[in-house]
Amino acid sequence: MRKELENKVIITAALCGTITPKSVNPHIPITPVEIAEDAYRCWQAGASVVHLHMRDDEGQGTMDSSKFREAINGIRAYADCDIIIGCTSSGTLLFSSDEERMRHFKLISEIEIGSFDAGTMNWSCNHVFDNSPEFLEKLGRAYQEHGVKPELEIFDSGMLGNVEHYIKIGVLKSPAYCQFCLGILGGMKATPENLMFLKTQLPPDAVWSAFGIGAAHMPIMYSAIAMGGHVRVGLEDNVYYSKGVKATNVQLVERAVQAIRLFGKDVATPEEAREILNLPQL
Ligand code: ZN
Repeated sequence: MRKELENKVIITAALCGTITPKSVNPHIPITPVEIAEDAYRCWQAGASVVHLHMRDDEGQGTMDSSKFREAINGIRAYADCDIIIGCTSSGTLLFSSDEERMRHFKLISEIEIGSFDAGTMNWSCNHVFDNSPEFLEKLGRAYQEHGVKPELEIFDSGMLGNVEHYIKIGVLKSPAYCQFCLGILGGMKATPENLMFLKTQLPPDAVWSAFGIGAAHMPIMYSAIAMGGHVRVGLEDNVYYSKGVKATNVQLVERAVQAIRLFGKDVATPEEAREILNLPQL
């Protein structure tokens, strides 16, 4: 990586996720039009990657490719906006088939990054977040076939062992891009100590980013900046700006920009982020 890029921090904006309803925070974008507008505003504020989930007309999570298509068309309709487009493969709370979780990556060539949840876990003691060996092998190979960079979502340290295995057998390629997702019950707690440990377990040459859920968002963001990582912010992970104050995605991006600059680093542009993540330029 070029020396000038070592001081650059990528901000990913995770706009809405699958679960949280608008009643919890009215600023969560739900429709493809709202999602595209919010992505554009987050890009203007300094985000270089947008992480997309879709909702159906009732606001429930959906893997409907036509919704992804519509939102991505909306983002790319802003001629000046070169934000990197990442999409989830995590499915919805209701059952999603393996094929439903991958279909949009096969149909929409503008998607540059796809999530790869590197193992199965009990999600919040509520349901099984199922990422079977069969699914992960299919997903890794589909990403290679369609030129999508896997974002390896790591909820617990054992998942890094899975990553190592999938690199060894060719399902994933080096250098890996890992996103540490901390603070979900069933995964690792969102503490700076856990983040430090996870960093020691990364594959060689890995690029990494991190976020904590809810109130843990702040300590993990500051720790990641201090430890040389990249950061993810957004209403998917945290709906408050401060205690009792509901955030917007733009406000959370703006605060990350300030934190990065106060630290003495700088915010990566999408062009720089593509270079850091080994993505082709637009
Ligand atoms: Zn997500």
